[in-house]
Amino acid sequence: MTADDSDGIRPGSTGGTRDGDGTRAVRAGLPEAVKNRPALPGPAFAAHYHLPGEPDGPYTYGRDENPTWTALERAIGELEAPGESVVTTAFASGMAAVSAVLLSQVRAGDAVVLPDDGYQALPLVGEQLTAYGVEVRTAPTAGDAQLSALEGARLLWIETPSNPGLDVCDVRRLADAAHAAGALVAVDNTLATPLGQRPLALGADFAVASDTKGLTGHGDLLLGHVTCRDAELAAGVRRWRKIVGAIPGPMEAWLAHRSLATLQLRVDRQCATALELARTLSGRSEVTGLRYPGLESDPSYAVASRQMRRYGSVVSFELPDRAFAERFLAGLRLVDDATSFGGVRSTAERRGRWGGDAVSEGFVRFSVGAEDPVDLLADVVGALDAAAR
Ligand code: PLP
Repeated sequence: MTADDSDGIRPGSTGGTRDGDGTRAVRAGLPEAVKNRPALPGPAFAAHYHLPGEPDGPYTYGRDENPTWTALERAIGELEAPGESVVTTAFASGMAAVSAVLLSQVRAGDAVVLPDDGYQALPLVGEQLTAYGVEVRTAPTAGDAQLSALEGARLLWIETPSNPGLDVCDVRRLADAAHAAGALVAVDNTLATPLGQRPLALGADFAVASDTKGLTGHGDLLLGHVTCRDAELAAGVRRWRKIVGAIPGPMEAWLAHRSLATLQLRVDRQCATALELARTLSGRSEVTGLRYPGLESDPSYAVASRQMRRYGSVVSFELPDRAFAERFLAGLRLVDDATSFGGVRSTAERRGRWGGDAVSEGFVRFSVGAEDPVDLLADVVGALDAAAR
């Protein structure tokens, strides 16, 4: 919802452009302070609401609206586009948000441009679109290669930094070209979080994310969101949520909102340690193909520095082979061998085990958590040494 009081819950003093990211994160989406009420009201568990007479909103039926979602959606909107009037729609997962944009905006006969190196479930949506009569074009993220596929397209889907390869494209350049070609632009901002990158300010029509990752950051829930400036586009996305029913649980929405208060603390720690990890790995002879957009020597550093405010928690690299990577992962004490990323506990995995990404057998995607950097780096160095023996 937009940050007004049309739902009867008056927003508090949040959303201003003056405040820093940490201040905005701790106050995001809070209601107006009212004596004897909590700062962040607890989750509202409701399948339906008292509704005598005309079925007026804002709260009529639980699949359409929920006050816990409203507060979270305001909060995310304040982080995605500080001081602006935007509409955020929360979803049950990142894929629910991704599919909501693609499936609500595209019709049979349209063309969409997807990255060929994005999150591994994106091609599954592409297959579904093809089955519905949509032309799906793909191009790599690196080098803004999607530019060459835009002619006559209805929608451009960008994922930057890409998962798991960590390539970065120039969102402003792509968005301007896409708009000139008559296409809408969606950016999957999962890896960066709104504190790392603001897709709407870079020209996107849709900022989309899996909030399962860094935004909520505790590895204990699945959630997603879509934020738009344009009310009509947002209405299409909301309509899709209503008809598919891909709605977040109130408990997940509340946990997510609670987690936002520490977003800046978590992300700043994670980014600082990720850079230290990347620097450490760059000095190791068994490590090749190292990628971190915040590393000065990274091919994406220049464009990432122009458009990102923080470089993210994920570092990718290659070890000599599958067995080496497995020994490395098994030797880590503080890093869980698990998928996903962005959480407070570091995780790493041999990405090739899933079979969906074009990566080598020794490719490792490492998600840096909130541990003490000195402990984490010692753990990584120790596991590399042990794997090499
Ligand atoms: N987008 C990206 C970039 C992702 O990495 C993921 C999941 O890893 C998703 C979307 C899907 O999110 P979810 O697992 O919450 O459905």
